[in-house]
Amino acid sequence: MPELPEVETMVRGIRPHVQGRRIAEFRACPCDCRPMLVEPSAREIARRVRGTTISDVIRRAKRVVLKLNSGDAFVIEPRMTGLMLIDAPPDPDHLRYEWLFQDGGPVSRLQFWDRRGLGTLKLLSAEQLDYLMGVDQLGRDALEMTASHWVDVCAATSTAIKVALLNQKRVAGIGNLYASEILHLAKISPLTSARQLKPAQIDRMTAAVLEVLHTAIKYEGSTLSDGTYRNALNKAGGYQNAHRVYDREDELCVTCSRGKIIRVVQAQRSTFYCPVCQPVRRRK
Ligand SMILES: [Zn+2]
Repeated sequence: MPELPEVETMVRGIRPHVQGRRIAEFRACPCDCRPMLVEPSAREIARRVRGTTISDVIRRAKRVVLKLNSGDAFVIEPRMTGLMLIDAPPDPDHLRYEWLFQDGGPVSRLQFWDRRGLGTLKLLSAEQLDYLMGVDQLGRDALEMTASHWVDVCAATSTAIKVALLNQKRVAGIGNLYASEILHLAKISPLTSARQLKPAQIDRMTAAVLEVLHTAIKYEGSTLSDGTYRNALNKAGGYQNAHRVYDREDELCVTCSRGKIIRVVQAQRSTFYCPVCQPVRRRK
């Protein structure tokens, strides 16, 4: 958390307010917390970006990218608890960095807030951006995956499909929460080897990825019980109410009304699934 839908919501929330704006100043907020990873130093970044204009705001996988007219770009990865805000933060104590604008308009600042401080903020040159954000380093975006792309990804690994969905070098943007939701909608057991998926299952998974992620974006993401994730206006998302399996262990499956949701651990992460809708196929 935040995954693709939450980061896409951040990008859509801040873009109309910061695109085309001139950065008067970038600075660290007074914060007593453990410092987060920033490259190069905040002082060096401040020097390089003063007076530049934000030319574009895009999402790359689970990162927010602020492109500048100088060719440099901020790449911000919220990781566990990071937020991009144009309104008052959840609290002032975990504000980390801010961009100040002095060219008029109702929004005078953009802020990065992070309670746990595991997020990262980097200023990259155009060359670094092209290399580090290219598909060789970071897989194709989940929203751009077709069935034939999925056939290639699945043929390349015999790991369980749930674990394969989380490999960002193969497909970028899907995290632990949405992986369980996607496989439930596609009626695929998370324990199935990626390589053993049948063409019909891959077709269902291709459609389920798009349906789950686009619907989650429409609802502005999922705010879990810890309440951390908020949109750019510090409001909760709404997709948590539509979760079919995530964090619903022992509840009755909403699809079949027969199976009880099971939680298992795969690669140190919780997986939730319905044993009735998502049976494990016997190997032939
Ligand atoms: Zn079910």
